Amino acid sequence: MPAVVIEEKCIGCKQCVFTCPEASTIIFNQEKNIVEINIERCKSCGLCVEVCPTDALVLSLLVG
Ligand code: SF4
Ligand code: SF4
Repeated sequence: MPAVVIEEKCIGCKQCVFTCPEASTIIFNQEKNIVEINIERCKSCGLCVEVCPTDALVLSLLVG
């Protein structure tokens, strides 16, 4: 199950970007001030879910 972003909860702090061990998987969208996840690259390790301060990330089959 790849990580997905609950956009309403993301505050753009980028903690997840710094934590994700897979390069270019979590991408910061400067315009929207949220992150986006390339689910093709996500290895479902769950590290980003753990560091997110606002619970904006979940491992889920529901994408989008
Ligand atoms: S679950 Fe792991 S690989 Fe996937 S986006 Fe989060 S930190 Fe990166
Ligand atoms: S750690 Fe959470 S709040 Fe911070 S940028 Fe990532 S998803 Fe958004």
